[in-house]
Amino acid sequence: MKVNLLINNEEIETDQYTEVRDPGKLSNVVGLVAQGSVQHVDKAIQEAYNTFKSWSNVELEVRISKLLKAIQQFETDATHLANVVSLENGMLLDVSKSEFAMAAVVMRNSAELARNALQAKTIEDEFSGVLIEKKPIGVIAGIVPWNAPIVLTMQKVVPAILAGNTIVIKPSPFAPLGVTLALKNIATFFPPGVINIVHGDADVGTALSTHPLIRKISFTGGGETAKHIMKSAAETLKGIHFELGGNDPAIILDDANLDEIVPKIVNGVFRRSGQFCFAIKRIYLPTTLYDEFYERMCTITDQYKIGHQLNENATFGPLNNPNQFQNVKRLLERLDNSSANIMKLGQKLEPDNWENGYYMHPVIVRDIDPYHDLVTCEQFGPIIPLIAYKSEAEVIHMANDSEMGLSSSIWSSDYDRSLQLARKIEAGMTIINSSHQSPLGHKYMPFGGVKQSGIGRENSETIFEEFTEFHAINYYKTTN
Ligand code: NAD
Repeated sequence: MKVNLLINNEEIETDQYTEVRDPGKLSNVVGLVAQGSVQHVDKAIQEAYNTFKSWSNVELEVRISKLLKAIQQFETDATHLANVVSLENGMLLDVSKSEFAMAAVVMRNSAELARNALQAKTIEDEFSGVLIEKKPIGVIAGIVPWNAPIVLTMQKVVPAILAGNTIVIKPSPFAPLGVTLALKNIATFFPPGVINIVHGDADVGTALSTHPLIRKISFTGGGETAKHIMKSAAETLKGIHFELGGNDPAIILDDANLDEIVPKIVNGVFRRSGQFCFAIKRIYLPTTLYDEFYERMCTITDQYKIGHQLNENATFGPLNNPNQFQNVKRLLERLDNSSANIMKLGQKLEPDNWENGYYMHPVIVRDIDPYHDLVTCEQFGPIIPLIAYKSEAEVIHMANDSEMGLSSSIWSSDYDRSLQLARKIEAGMTIINSSHQSPLGHKYMPFGGVKQSGIGRENSETIFEEFTEFHAINYYKTTN
């Protein structure tokens, strides 16, 4: 399999192709991806800019109807592309399938919410009127990570183009194949130049974030990369929208029902082998529940079957890439000289293949210093620290004592008590009795973080604010 750049709905071959390896079987090359140059970035942006002039004048209803047809194509493609995404990303096939399904939901939600979100407002009095219109911004650069490549790309592309912008997407080198194949087919439903793709890593990212015709950068990824982008974007004063990492606390209250919550928490920690931005990253427990929670969490976690992502019996896949693998292993090594107790769990399904992929056991760490690196950083992998607390004031202090603030969760049988605590948490999102959003939450919750977890929000009607500018017109009713 080979994927190219996409500029003006034409596939562009380049001089250099890099291999995408299967993180669950490194001896396998899943496909080749064309590497773009600074010139390719410039060409893609120029084409997107030329198309912007006409696309921004297309009626919203026309844009929506094109999108609805494209979604049907996307859903048809999902059946075979889920396999490709699993192979390149390392996520289990079921997870990959549900990511495609979620992306289709996000796309449909966007189509439904666009009408209200993009509507102009008129306010009048006896003498004058004010018209507030929402205008597209221009050419958007969408820079996306590998961990949920489909949904994270679609939740930028769809609202951006519905609002009348054009876009150049840069996928991650660690999961470029499935998203390119999906977007290439979606792009055929729109005029050439509306959706473009350029592949590469930091060089292509920098070319996008410094190009004068890019008006806004919508970036999902790590905080360090975001700092580079912010600096590059400063030269031409571009708008930025950042969805960054989290260090999401789960706070268990002493009235929580452990039978119900422990399985959900295990899933909220270890789904996608811990590699998702709003995964639970630290668990705070009242001292009264600490030991029992730990025992129960170990029992459930130990049932994971670690194996290749396409193995039907596997319930826990590999990590995605070498940097990720090394980072998580280093964090584990740093625990060696501490007082923490480390429990490696789960069963190896394919011991012979263990060294041929980025495999790790899920790990639960207890008796850890509440300010150890594993607690204060974003581990983005399958190691979870359990921390004891004595009072609500103490746990809120520890939860908020962080530079990050993406999501968070509270687990309790008492809704009023949970809500009061939720309001004290410094985060963009708090979920009560789950770690992921309900379907209603997906549609209506502005998704994103505070502090160094992000700038701006995705999903809901709020995303349209990221992709539009106000144009305000004030008119007098008479010339007197
Ligand atoms: P990353 O920052 O390494 O890479 C993200 C993208 O940026 C990739 O496409 C990469 O090629 C590109 N890039 C790298 N250097 C660049 C530069 N100098 N200029 C422009 N672009 C550049 O992140 P990652 O490892 O792919 O993803 C993991 C991170 O993403 C985690 O921190 C995770 O929490 C975060 N994330 C956040 C959300 C969210 O919605 N808040 C969602 C998913 C992932």
